[in-house]
Amino acid sequence: MTQLHTDVIIVGGGPAGLLLAIELGRRQIRTILFDQDCSTTINPQANATQARTMEHYRRLGFANEVRTQGLPPNYPTDIAYFTTFSGYELARFQLPSADEAKDLIKNMSGSWSAAELPHRVSQMYVEQVLHRQATRLKSVALRYQHEVTKVIDNIDHVEATVVTDKFTFVVSAQYLIGCDGPRSTVRKHLGITMEGETNKKRDFVGGYMHAVYLKGKHLYDAINGDPAWMHVNVNHRRRCFLAAIDGKSEFVFHTQLKSGEDKDNISEIQTRNMFAECMGKSVDFDIINRSSWTAGFTLVAEKLSVDRIFLAGDAAHLFTPTGGLGYNTAIEDAVNLGWKLAAVIKKWGGSRLLDSYQMERHPSAVRNTNYARGFAESLGSFKPKPELEAHTSEGSKLRAEASDYFNRHGREEFNIPGITFGNRYDGSPIIVSDGSEPPPDRANMYQPTACPGGRAPHLWLQNTTGKTTSLYDQFGFEFTLLCFDGGDKNIMGPLTSAAKSAELLLSVVNIAGEEARELYQSNFALIRPDQIVAWRGDQLPEEPEKIIRTLTGK
Ligand SMILES: Cc1cc2nc3c(=O)[nH]c(=O)nc-3n(C[C@H](O)[C@H](O)[C@H](O)COP(=O)(O)OP(=O)(O)OC[C@H]3O[C@@H](n4cnc5c(N)ncnc54)[C@H](O)[C@@H]3O)c2cc1C
Repeated sequence: MTQLHTDVIIVGGGPAGLLLAIELGRRQIRTILFDQDCSTTINPQANATQARTMEHYRRLGFANEVRTQGLPPNYPTDIAYFTTFSGYELARFQLPSADEAKDLIKNMSGSWSAAELPHRVSQMYVEQVLHRQATRLKSVALRYQHEVTKVIDNIDHVEATVVTDKFTFVVSAQYLIGCDGPRSTVRKHLGITMEGETNKKRDFVGGYMHAVYLKGKHLYDAINGDPAWMHVNVNHRRRCFLAAIDGKSEFVFHTQLKSGEDKDNISEIQTRNMFAECMGKSVDFDIINRSSWTAGFTLVAEKLSVDRIFLAGDAAHLFTPTGGLGYNTAIEDAVNLGWKLAAVIKKWGGSRLLDSYQMERHPSAVRNTNYARGFAESLGSFKPKPELEAHTSEGSKLRAEASDYFNRHGREEFNIPGITFGNRYDGSPIIVSDGSEPPPDRANMYQPTACPGGRAPHLWLQNTTGKTTSLYDQFGFEFTLLCFDGGDKNIMGPLTSAAKSAELLLSVVNIAGEEARELYQSNFALIRPDQIVAWRGDQLPEEPEKIIRTLTGK
């Protein structure tokens, strides 16, 4: 058996693995990613890229590339609720097209003070972009049709046994990250168990789901009302959701199986009948792919790391996909771990940086899985009566009630700035608290705050030529010191020297104007590579070495 050596082995090339490879590759860390499949996913899977994920893609320089993927640029991303898709439209939450989103965000404030709005796009397209980006990085190697069958954690290195159809070999590395999805081989090798709720039964999004990726020229003719991105049906016979994939002819259809329907044994005729039942009429379509999955998990791994091995993404937490949080939480794991691993490998980061991964990301996974469970309860516990579809006064009354319910539910599940921007790392050993209290955690409301431990508040800046730029575009790739006091650069000396001695890359950025100072409620703020406020103050620290030691986890 041959033996190779690298800095980091990533097992799994889904969103978590690919983004981690990009974060490491951008920092010139030698990384090999192994995936057992022959390519990125060919199934649509996740359909929503949240605004915070888009902000990370912007930081990495490819948010615009992602925003061009999927639906046509002028296609609205509404969520619409129907009895059947050719029947009554009950409720609709209107959301902008990709083209509108780019401009709209520049005029939004409050909860939506952000550099990016969400993008409704299938994971299949996002993974293609992530793959393209990762292949451009010299220190990253992507190896498909390579299955990792065994991992060993030694004191000073890790080893992975890799199997292809031709040979078996061992790779050693400083660190190994299991981004290998829900059935994670890495997690099983570590003996880590998942904690939380399994197989919760609900009338909808609680049980076996049948997923069909399909294509049909006349599907849009059969669906009532204006185009939407997500279609959800509500009737007593069969519940489903139907997401538009390309805005022309492709959709993904997910319906919950009823008792007596065997998830491993559904004939094509049964699939077609299920679809017709949800459409309210029979429509011709081609099946691209069929699969099944289980809704009803709210699970988080008891630990996200053991020594030199870490878990990220679905290997570390399992969601019911309501709220569209699984892939987005996976991305945030990769962002959090990427800069820390690179810092430790480059030796400017200390061991507490890696310890902080568990402390920061475990509570985030518990928080996000619980939000998803709440949305599943709300969606799945609505019990449509048979008269909901009747052309009677009782039917009208029930439809009006359902309309109220889903107009409220739609906003709650799909307007979630609080979830996407409001996650916090309070109590982390690499955050310097200033004693201030963060605002309460709410799903649908985000209150910008520079209280250390949360996302840096965003602001649109106007330059002298009148061009609008994002505050985030001013940040350096690693740490950034924001100065809001008019910017006498000479006083930065001790802090920048301390950062330099610690080999921490620190960009100093002066932001003019009272608005930014007001927003940050301080003269200075130190921002981490993942755009989290690590420290703020009106004066620069008297003992900058101490702050730098905290930030670097030493
Ligand atoms: C119907 C549905 C809708 C969803 N909608 C959303 C949504 O709107 N928004 C959202 O955020 N999330 C959504 N999700 C969840 C989302 O798809 C997952 O959370 C996401 O794919 C997790 O990414 P990951 O990289 O952690 O794992 P995965 O995407 O599962 O990738 C794991 C990779 O590891 C590889 N692998 C596994 N074992 C090995 C091994 N031993 N060796 C080598 N390679 C291995 C696999 O081939 C795979 O490529 C949805 C999920 C479903 C089922």
